[in-house]
Amino acid sequence: MKTQTRVVVIGGGIAGCSTLYHLTQEGWSDVVLVERNELTSGTTWHSAAQVTNFGMNQTMVGLKTHSINLYKELRDDPEYPVGYNHGDGGIRLANTEAQMEGYRHFASMARGMDVEFEVIDAQECARRHPLLSTDNLIGGLWDGNDGDIDPASLCQALARRARQAGAEVYRNTPVTGLTQHKDDSWTVHTDQGDIDCEIVVNACGYRVNEVGAMMGVHHPVASMEHQYFVTEDIPAIIEAGHRMPLIRCPISDYYSRQEKNGLLVGFYEQDCKTWGMDGIDPNFVNALCPDDLDRVMDVLEGAFARMPALADVGIKNVVNGPITYTIDGAPLVGPIPNKRNAFCIIGLRAGLGEGGGHGWMLAQQIVHGEACYDTWCIDPRRFTGHANVEMTALKAIEDYQNEFRFHFPNEHRPAARNAKTTPLTPALAAEGAEFTVVNGWERAEFFKPDPDFHVTHGFCFDESFDIVAKEVATVQNAVGLTEVNGFNRFELTGPDAQNFLDRMICGRLTRKEGRVGLAYLLNTHGMLKAEATIANLPASDRGPARIWYGSAAAAEFHDMDWLQSNLRDDEDVTIRSLTNDQTILVLAGPKARAVMQSVSREDWSAKGFPWLSVRECFIGYAPATVMSVSFSGELAYEIHVPNASLYAAYLALRGAGKAHGMGLFGALAVDSMRMEKGYLHWKADILTEFDPFETGLERFVKLDKPEFVGKAALEARYAKGPSKQLVTLKLASTNAAAHGGASLMSKGKVIGTVTSGDWGHRTGLNIAYAFVDPDFTALGTTVEIDVLGTLIAAEVIDKALYDPENLLVRN
Ligand SMILES: Cc1cc2nc3c(=O)[nH]c(=O)nc-3n(C[C@H](O)[C@H](O)[C@H](O)COP(=O)(O)OP(=O)(O)OC[C@H]3O[C@@H](n4cnc5c(N)ncnc54)[C@H](O)[C@@H]3O)c2cc1C
Repeated sequence: MKTQTRVVVIGGGIAGCSTLYHLTQEGWSDVVLVERNELTSGTTWHSAAQVTNFGMNQTMVGLKTHSINLYKELRDDPEYPVGYNHGDGGIRLANTEAQMEGYRHFASMARGMDVEFEVIDAQECARRHPLLSTDNLIGGLWDGNDGDIDPASLCQALARRARQAGAEVYRNTPVTGLTQHKDDSWTVHTDQGDIDCEIVVNACGYRVNEVGAMMGVHHPVASMEHQYFVTEDIPAIIEAGHRMPLIRCPISDYYSRQEKNGLLVGFYEQDCKTWGMDGIDPNFVNALCPDDLDRVMDVLEGAFARMPALADVGIKNVVNGPITYTIDGAPLVGPIPNKRNAFCIIGLRAGLGEGGGHGWMLAQQIVHGEACYDTWCIDPRRFTGHANVEMTALKAIEDYQNEFRFHFPNEHRPAARNAKTTPLTPALAAEGAEFTVVNGWERAEFFKPDPDFHVTHGFCFDESFDIVAKEVATVQNAVGLTEVNGFNRFELTGPDAQNFLDRMICGRLTRKEGRVGLAYLLNTHGMLKAEATIANLPASDRGPARIWYGSAAAAEFHDMDWLQSNLRDDEDVTIRSLTNDQTILVLAGPKARAVMQSVSREDWSAKGFPWLSVRECFIGYAPATVMSVSFSGELAYEIHVPNASLYAAYLALRGAGKAHGMGLFGALAVDSMRMEKGYLHWKADILTEFDPFETGLERFVKLDKPEFVGKAALEARYAKGPSKQLVTLKLASTNAAAHGGASLMSKGKVIGTVTSGDWGHRTGLNIAYAFVDPDFTALGTTVEIDVLGTLIAAEVIDKALYDPENLLVRN
């Protein structure tokens, strides 16, 4: 066994084997995989191993396409062919119009990744799958690439190819401990000896937290028991003369695929069970949980009703095994938060279908620092302090019970709510707030007119439309107040803080005390990594001179990792997170200044506190740090208040606001207004797939700066010109926004992808942002956007639609 290598991948299921193989493909051959037993002896060996192309976003579709292409290549390898039934096709069923709408959106989104899904009616579903009854069925989504693979030969093939490229695989070698050294390298302790390495990868399936504990990490991954059975031969399948497509049913939450001449049917029952929460028997190897078909009777009835032929055949065998879940159902693939040189590929609940792609994404991140797609939807840092196994178990149960029921836009399900709240949460609830969840924080989305009010979730504008219009009107004509909790905030102190930040951002750093500026951080490829509001606070009785670095609520772990990992040994900078200690109240509208003037003794005139200023003050008697910045385009103040005095500040502002017609507004109103100003959202419009020039952020770039992270790469990109460009469009429709992922079409060809869409209530426009081919960026260019299956005419327009001169915020 080697005693030194570059990467040690721990775990020999699909996750580990795929990572090892892809590391060699990305050019690293001095890599090792260690497996405690035999390859595939965890979950992988007993998987139903269906491989589908369906994903909820383009990254998932892209990485699943990679799996499919790789698996086809392995199937066709004459030296070691893998059993892969590619192209049986598959149908995701629907019995509501809202589900069909969703499928039309997903088909539009997938087209941008060169994947064609078809939305078909009930008769067509039955024609393609002769065992189906069309009772209570409207139609479904057809995915022609669906199939299933032999998990054991897939993993052996990947390990074999990795070995041929120089990697080594050590079976029956349990990892027993991990030691990290001062230079961030690791020693992996196994019962066969130690291996020193630069990087470790946790790919341990349901044993993820046994290995996590060895490095002091608690991963938000929980396991569920999951069952399927395989039937005897079904005559109708033999008669059909072709293989049966896969079925996924959101009506009763089961799946099926053909197995020999019978069916394999898997169940997601309501009475489901977590597994291994209190520890896992060390001897649970190549093992299954006891069968319990009684538990799945509710779902079984639905499956029998849909495929009556099932009632006439016997069951050959039952499989019940552990399957891992995360808080949002997507896996954790990427850097482990707050650790150096440590990665994970865990929480895979569809690991056979997705594993080829996830290993590819991870290997790219390890070798190049970033993958070809933006990987935020699988980034382990997208969950922060609230994410623990207890919470994950509750979300896992909820997800399992709704396995094939996708989330609609703005749908936030009830399990594990109130994970992060502020003293204002109950006060806003009493005011009628409907809450959205942002990185665990309960954030007001809009304010309900009465307690029984609810929206019908779907992809079209819903009952909240008029409420949001009213909230926007209050902000536009008088003054509105909202809470933006969880906003990420770091405090940077030390003699090198400014120079360090200057090196991290690609534009001019606001160095003047009392001033605020927007800044962008790039990765080493010159692509957009982070967005930050930088505020310079002078020394005061609240502390020494310091910089506040503010970014999106979900960016806390991500941005901290990026800043810390770029800090040089010779730089004297301390970075402290204030994210959980302070909350922002946003006061916006033409009367905002009058409200401020009546609650705080400072001079709030345009001259005394111009746009992009920051100062410390009191709101009533609540200490606050106020910035004159605006995401709505109206005159606005961001009032940062310690949580202990948040309620006092809120009461003072609410009291003072009465005389000025103040109303509360929520996140939906904010989104509508920011779209009218051309303002972007991190990880919707600001992605690692594009540079700041492509994203329309050239005014935040200073290429003549001597140094910044990503400069050389950005210069090279700039010289080449953009591959895509972000534009603003207005749509000729009024019933639905263009949702992120929707395809832009011209003459039948995909020419771009929507990143955000919303109704602009002040401009009366249906607005979308999209990355398009450079030929389609001129103002007035007309294209079509596939919105829920209908091609809607759209025109490229100026991005600053509302108050383009920014007069409202300046005066
Ligand atoms: C019944 C069932 C049906 C399923 N059907 C499908 C399907 O149709 N399609 C699909 O895509 N997915 C399906 N899945 C999910 C899929 O099987 C899993 O997502 C996938 O197998 C997980 O692979 P993994 O490599 O992450 O974990 P595992 O296969 O569990 O591999 C982890 C490996 O790590 C090793 N390990 C653990 N601790 C250590 C240690 N200390 N030292 C060294 N090695 C260690 C283990 O021995 C194990 O081999 C199904 C799952 C179940 C249970």
